[in-house]
Amino acid sequence: MDYQAILDEVMTAVRPLIGQGRVANYIPALAAVDPSRFGMALATVDGQVFGVGDWRVPFSIQSISKVFTLALTLARDGDAVWRRVGKEPSGNPFNSLVQLEYEQGIPRNPFINAGALVITDRLLRLTGDSRGVLRDFLRAESGNPSLDFDPVVAASEAEHGHRNAALAHFMASYGNIESPVAQVLEHYFWQCSLTASCADLARACGFLARHGQRAGGERLLTRSQAKQVNAVMLTCGTYDAAGEFAYRVGLPGKSGVGGGIIAVIPNRCGLCVWSPGLDARGNSVAGVEALDRFTTLTGLSVF
Ligand code: GLU
Repeated sequence: MDYQAILDEVMTAVRPLIGQGRVANYIPALAAVDPSRFGMALATVDGQVFGVGDWRVPFSIQSISKVFTLALTLARDGDAVWRRVGKEPSGNPFNSLVQLEYEQGIPRNPFINAGALVITDRLLRLTGDSRGVLRDFLRAESGNPSLDFDPVVAASEAEHGHRNAALAHFMASYGNIESPVAQVLEHYFWQCSLTASCADLARACGFLARHGQRAGGERLLTRSQAKQVNAVMLTCGTYDAAGEFAYRVGLPGKSGVGGGIIAVIPNRCGLCVWSPGLDARGNSVAGVEALDRFTTLTGLSVF
C-alpha cells in the first residue's frame, strides 16, 4: 500500500476543514496555538514512518498521555488496576464529576480525567516517579531523545486545574487516591503538558499495534493486556463521542484537547493526526475527518 500517496490524498480532502472548530481555551496556554495547523503521520510496526503537513511539529499531547500511563501501570499492576477504575464509556464530558458519587469514587474508565488521576496515583506508588517513567518510555518508543514537557502549559494547567483538584479530592475521600492529592495533580498536569509531534506519537503507539511489544523488541504488555488497552481506546478514547468515532473511523483511538488523536491498526501501524480546532465534544474536527477518510480509502479498520 502506498501510504504516502494516501496521506497526501487525505490532507487534500480535509483541507477545507482545517481551522474549523474551536481551539481549547480553558487552559489559557493552549489557546495560543495556531488553528491552521494540520499534520498526520503513520508509523508501520517495522519502523517506517510517513507523514504529511505539520507532522514533525510538536504539540501538547494532553489526554493522549492517558494511553501511555494506563499501559505503563497495567504492565506493573496487572489486573489489580481494574479494581480502582472501570472500563465502561462514561457518556459524560471528560472532566465530569457527576458519576463519581454514584460509583463510590471509582471512575468509569481510565481515559476520563478522574480515571487518569487514579492511574497517575497508582503509577506514582508503583514507580516513585511517574514522570521519568513516562518520559523515558516515550523517548525510547518515538526515537526522539528531546521529547519533553512544556513548563508553561504545565503551570497553566495547575493554575486553572480546580476541576481536576475537585475530582482528585473527591476520590481521595473514598480512598481511591492514596498519594497526596497535590502530588498526584502535579504529575497529572505534567503528563498532559508533554509535547510531541505526530511522527513521535505514531511511533510511540506502535507497541499497541505490535500486541504489547516495544520498538526494541522487549515486551511491555501481554497480548491480552494490549487488547484490553485497544478495546478501552475504542469504547472510551474519544470523550463522549466514542460511539461516533468507532462508527466513522473503526479504530482504537485516543484524542486530546490539544487537537491530537492517536489511532492503532493492529499488526500494521500507529497513526497520529493533529489539528487544533475542536468540535463540541473536544475532538479535532479535521483530525477525525482525516482518520475517517484514511480508513475509508484504505479499507483498513478493525472491522
Ligand atoms: N489537561 C487536560 C485536563 O485535565 C486534559 C484534557 C484532555 O485532553 O482531555 O483538563
